[in-house]
Amino acid sequence: MRYSHNLIKSNKEAREFDTVNATLLQKGVFIDQTMAGVFAFLPLGLRVLQKIEQIIREEMDTIGAEVFLPALVPTKLWEQTGRFDTVDVLFKATPANAGSAKRNDATYVLNSTHEDTVAPIAGKYMLSYRDLPFAVYQIQTKFRNEERPKSGLLRGREFRMKDLYSFHASDEDREAYYEKAKEVYVRIFDRLGLGADTVIALASGGDFTDDYSHEFQTKLDTGEDTIYHDEKEDVFYNKEVASPELQKATEGIQVSEVGNIFPLGTKFTEAAEYMYTNEDGKQQPVYMASYGIGSSRIMGVLVEKFHDDRGIIWPANVAPFTVHLVGISGGDDAVTAKAEAVYEKLTAANVEVLYDDRADVSPGEKLGDADLVGCPWRAVVSGKTGDSIEIKQRTSDAMELVTIDDLITKLT
Ligand code: ATP
Ligand code: MG
Repeated sequence: MRYSHNLIKSNKEAREFDTVNATLLQKGVFIDQTMAGVFAFLPLGLRVLQKIEQIIREEMDTIGAEVFLPALVPTKLWEQTGRFDTVDVLFKATPANAGSAKRNDATYVLNSTHEDTVAPIAGKYMLSYRDLPFAVYQIQTKFRNEERPKSGLLRGREFRMKDLYSFHASDEDREAYYEKAKEVYVRIFDRLGLGADTVIALASGGDFTDDYSHEFQTKLDTGEDTIYHDEKEDVFYNKEVASPELQKATEGIQVSEVGNIFPLGTKFTEAAEYMYTNEDGKQQPVYMASYGIGSSRIMGVLVEKFHDDRGIIWPANVAPFTVHLVGISGGDDAVTAKAEAVYEKLTAANVEVLYDDRADVSPGEKLGDADLVGCPWRAVVSGKTGDSIEIKQRTSDAMELVTIDDLITKLT
């Protein structure tokens, strides 16, 4: 992709925000804040988000089927589960034409999560013991009127989440699947470059369940959560459930919650009057669990963890492009033509290349932008590089002159 005509720029005027991810993602014009806690994802930012979500999708496909549930739902779904008045972050939407002669449907909900929405659908189609177990997931925008939206993508009022819902004939079956889902989560955080710093912590089930839920917590100084490590048992506990003794005896660890999985018992299936028919023709309760991953929060966490004073250093799996090609022509058409040729050849070889083809930007600014944007490789074509291309990795200052064929071999 070319810089020019594609809403790819840097914004040196962007101010310093409260966290590194908010600052770097806005200086790099990956995202743009529309209001507190609400962001537009621009071309660079959307590519990163989609890469994160594609990794999650590939792993989820091994344990469930993808669906896309509505964000806008009738209040009835939330009243039925008793949550319409208890979830304080819920957005309730009243349309301008509510109560008009034609329509008297006054209020809707913009979903903050989808247990209330998915259980009635499951209860319509998956009624036999032969249908169970099954699981569906989606990757979607969620709405929560957080009291203090802050820290860039770490806490939004509109944010992205992968949510999976599993349905079972017994709680034992739910437990077996739940353990499998944990392993899939571990693979996801490994592939996202967060494996080494992410642990599972026991936490409260919130308004879902009296059991513990399990949080995937990534160690991060700017994270909002605190967990404690019980070294004897080798178990991590969220602050909200850690015994006082443990809190006195050990240092809290700052973390950001990147995922959370919940055993739900029969709360939502009962509310939806969802039972299944067993082998003997008897109606039986359905056990449910839900599994969330915050994909947009993860994008923020990655920037918090992987950056230096010049900009972002994306893990290769989620980088917006593999190589940032910088053309420095100094007005020399022959150099421009060479940079164009390199761009075409890389593209033809299926290398994901971001080509800084801007004519009105200084070399220093272009190189600075390459550091800010944080692709794994930088390739420079200039009057000095002759028939070669000067390449370097974002994580190193060592430069190398290579031919286009060498470069393609390196990057494919
Ligand atoms: P938190 O404790 O951080 O408010 P939560 O426990 O309310 O999060 P869940 O309902 O468990 O969140 O949502 C699943 C995942 O979605 C979380 O683990 C987190 O990664 C992400 N998430 C939750 N709230 C937000 C938010 N406001 N902005 C961005 N991501 C979020
Ligand atoms: Mg949670």
